[in-house]
Amino acid sequence: MAQNNIDKIQDHATLFQQPEYQELFADKKQYEGGHSTEEIQRIADWTKTWEYREKNFEREALTVNPAKACQPLGAILAAVGFEQTLPFVHGSQGCVAYFRSHFTRHFKEPFSAVSSSMTEDAAVFGGLNNMIEGLANSYSLYKPKMIAMCTTCMAEVIGDDLQAFIKTSKEKGSVPEEFPVPYAHTPSFVGSHITGYDNMMKGILTTLTEGKKAETTNGKINFIPGFETYVGNLREVKRLAEVMGVDYTLLADNSDYLDSPNNGEYNMYPGGTPLDVAADSINAEATIALQAYSTTKTREYIAKDWKQPVSVVRPIGIRGTDAFLVKLSELTGKPIPKELEDERGRAVDAITDSQAWLHGKKIAMYGDPDLVIGLVSFLLELGAEPTHIVVTNSNPEFEAELQAILDSSPFGANGKIWGGKDLWHMRSLLFTEPVDLFIGNSYGKYLWRDTKTPMVRIGYPIFDRHHLHRYETFGYKGTINLLNWIVNTLLDELDRNTIIPSKTDISYDLIR
Ligand code: SF4
Repeated sequence: MAQNNIDKIQDHATLFQQPEYQELFADKKQYEGGHSTEEIQRIADWTKTWEYREKNFEREALTVNPAKACQPLGAILAAVGFEQTLPFVHGSQGCVAYFRSHFTRHFKEPFSAVSSSMTEDAAVFGGLNNMIEGLANSYSLYKPKMIAMCTTCMAEVIGDDLQAFIKTSKEKGSVPEEFPVPYAHTPSFVGSHITGYDNMMKGILTTLTEGKKAETTNGKINFIPGFETYVGNLREVKRLAEVMGVDYTLLADNSDYLDSPNNGEYNMYPGGTPLDVAADSINAEATIALQAYSTTKTREYIAKDWKQPVSVVRPIGIRGTDAFLVKLSELTGKPIPKELEDERGRAVDAITDSQAWLHGKKIAMYGDPDLVIGLVSFLLELGAEPTHIVVTNSNPEFEAELQAILDSSPFGANGKIWGGKDLWHMRSLLFTEPVDLFIGNSYGKYLWRDTKTPMVRIGYPIFDRHHLHRYETFGYKGTINLLNWIVNTLLDELDRNTIIPSKTDISYDLIR
């Protein structure tokens, strides 16, 4: 009997198709008193029109499916790149549960972060007591080498002062006086996850490097990846630097934390940039940020306080990777080795092989500013036409930079940047001005289902496909990955559209 029940367990994809559920849904609908199927269809059809699009774009006080997350989420991603560092979120427990599950669903890895579990009393009287207790518990239970603290909306609304609270907590003996507790205020009602990343990175570097400035440089180059969710990219940057013979510090390296080996032993803090190495980053020759808009304050701080040359290079596509290697060569005097020239040649060859399928293809996309800049630049190299570009966490500087990239190529002539818009705007764009393909994170699945536009999953989060975050999108190898995902999605769609025997299959080619 028990065996029979086990055999009958169904995945939810098929479970709700069973007659008992179908009956239940039908009964429920009857009692809900909703609109008729015809009326629902009529409105659904209207939402696909230009008339609706104009109303949709007049929307001011409401956001529907924004392509962004909140500040603390970015802050804790920055924190876990450092050796044995525990992210501590001063605020409510629910927020932290959301951040942890968001990362776990994307990376398929455990993600540790604690909170001060503020509830109603802390919201009224302030969260100091929660922090004193929370820091003491975190320190003794989880044995971190550093606790990186940020805030949620609740702590910000009541105005809790992290610097003062940490000082008091140390005085009360929650953690030793010399124990590093860098912090960043990360109010979620301004900015997005990329702002939070920037604030936390600046906070950590400020704390670790204080008093560490030496007379001479350490000869290294610092890399700051920004809000980077492809662990393959961190490994690719390290590999490229190693092939070039460049000594570097990655600020910070969360690749092992977010992609740890399954060897039967649980390690709460795999990998991470050692704290003493991070502290010495103040003495590097130069810093290269691989994203601009998630590192704005950090770069300003490094240039001003560390007096270090700071540049931004996104190693995406041929042009971006060329720029990255040339910058490394300029800064270190090391030549670009033949091994990398050959990699470049292979990527160019791959693009040439696929170019006929990509030329003139209209492509929509949404995502973070730096990702979108990298993708637009790459698509222009392919001769594809970036068309609708939605960036919820946009800003005027980003829009000017992206517009200049679009203006630099005839393929960019029809590209329109939709700053501050959301995925419901994108839906209107895809219905009224269809494109050949769109690029975005897993939330694009609803757009794919609604508009039937082929979708390529690039960005964060990707919950509904496995392992994409393990690949690199950086470097010449990453160029081939991006190309592969894009061109083969178009070819899949072509095959789907030529599948009816004797009708659409006239050119149902085996060879593309
Ligand atoms: S927006 Fe504010 S309340 Fe919501 S998860 Fe982020 S920090 Fe928490």
